[in-house]
Amino acid sequence: MSTVILGGGIIGSSIAYYLTRDSSPRKNEEVHIIESSSQLFSAASGYAAGFLAKNWFASSVAPLGALSFNLHHELAAENGGAEKWGYMKSTALSLDVSDAPGRTGLRGARGDDWLRQGTSRAEAAAKIENPSLTLLQNEAPAWLTKQRGGRVENISHGETAAQVDPPRLCRFLMDTATSRGVKLHHPAQATSIITDPVTGTLNGIKIQDLNTKTEFIIPCRNLVICAGPWTAQVFKTLFPSSGARIPISQLAGYSLLLRSPRHTVDQERETYGGRSHAVFTTYPPSCGFSPEIFSRHGAEIYIAGLNSTQIPLPARAEESPAAMQKEQIDELKKVAVRLLGKPAEGRVESSEDVPNMDDLEVVREALCFRPVTNRGTPIVSRVRDDLLGGDVKTEFEDGPVEGRRNGGVFIASGHGPWGISLSLGTGKVVAEMIDGVETSADITGLGV
Ligand SMILES: Cc1cc2nc3c(=O)[nH]c(=O)nc-3n(C[C@H](O)[C@H](O)[C@H](O)COP(=O)(O)OP(=O)(O)OC[C@H]3O[C@@H](n4cnc5c(N)ncnc54)[C@H](O)[C@@H]3O)c2cc1C
Repeated sequence: MSTVILGGGIIGSSIAYYLTRDSSPRKNEEVHIIESSSQLFSAASGYAAGFLAKNWFASSVAPLGALSFNLHHELAAENGGAEKWGYMKSTALSLDVSDAPGRTGLRGARGDDWLRQGTSRAEAAAKIENPSLTLLQNEAPAWLTKQRGGRVENISHGETAAQVDPPRLCRFLMDTATSRGVKLHHPAQATSIITDPVTGTLNGIKIQDLNTKTEFIIPCRNLVICAGPWTAQVFKTLFPSSGARIPISQLAGYSLLLRSPRHTVDQERETYGGRSHAVFTTYPPSCGFSPEIFSRHGAEIYIAGLNSTQIPLPARAEESPAAMQKEQIDELKKVAVRLLGKPAEGRVESSEDVPNMDDLEVVREALCFRPVTNRGTPIVSRVRDDLLGGDVKTEFEDGPVEGRRNGGVFIASGHGPWGISLSLGTGKVVAEMIDGVETSADITGLGV
């Protein structure tokens, strides 16, 4: 009996990929992905930075984080990920500018502060990977503008950080899954679930094609809700009589994709040996946010850090550009020029409405929405029947795998700033839960 995955971002694509892996006991069962946008990967999965970390996580997420990091490495090694989705090893650095007025230090902060207060994820690294931060004053990449009083420190010791280009990874996962028989329906959305009239057991889902407005039913026993920040809405639509509230909301984030004359494909290959750099900072303090900068495959530079809880979630992911506020993106551009522009003596500071981008080229401006939970860690779990609203049952049984009746409603969402990093591990463990086998990582702390 088939599995229906609601949401075709990186989490849904990863689940479909691992459900159809060769070793899956259910690889011949149908898998459907329902995605509401007409343009694939038009939510956070298509616009994220793509930074991956092995051990920057709270203890309940740590096993999933380590599993996922290793899976990223394996997947890239086995499938040419370096070329196909820009997989690179990365060095993470913190930039601290000691004479900046009003500066805040990176040390001693709580690991989840940035998520709650809009500060930088480097604080998590500083907390976890301290105490022996290495001074790398002369090893900062040439594309990072030297700041007076600036200190650059390595905060990722050993091979514990990497980088991908998220939309290209999503495309690989989705294309591989569909080539193995997964059926992708988009733009479409689920309108209600179907239960057996006698037993009340989940046995199908009603889907609406958003182009033709026609409805059709997909028989299924497993349902996975992984619709990013729309997950709570989807759950409410399908289980209206449930008293459970899924505590996932949105945290909007602006980003710019740039090119700089101080970073070329030759430098990427020869000077940096094919490595990426990630730079986390609270500088300049006057900007009020914590910039994060990443060099990516093909000499792209990505900058983000300007976040907002105030921007309402659009009905569909592809409508996100309309919610972009010009003043905010201009603010990010000014910070980009400060951190990546020509060194100070050659730079023209701009107070104009349209920031002078110096010699940087803006390739793309974006706004997208992270799915965040109020506890700061994702939900990767089966939803117990008693939380589905009373009239719905599923066929899930605990006990030996052999002969077990399997079916359930699962939620895999709320990955906040780490959905790309945690994607493959999440895909694998959700597939394992559906298969009814032991999960490869302990996810007992990630329940509903
Ligand atoms: C600026 C920024 C930078 C980031 N950088 C990083 C990073 O460097 N590293 C990292 O690990 N993470 C990063 N993230 C976080 C990461 O992008 C997210 O955690 C991740 O993309 C979430 O993936 P998802 O599949 O859960 O959700 P989404 O990408 O939001 O996908 C959900 C999908 O569900 C679809 N959907 C919505 N409603 C319905 C419905 N009713 N029916 C069917 N489908 C529906 C949406 O259209 C969407 O395609 C960043 C996020 C932002 C905003």
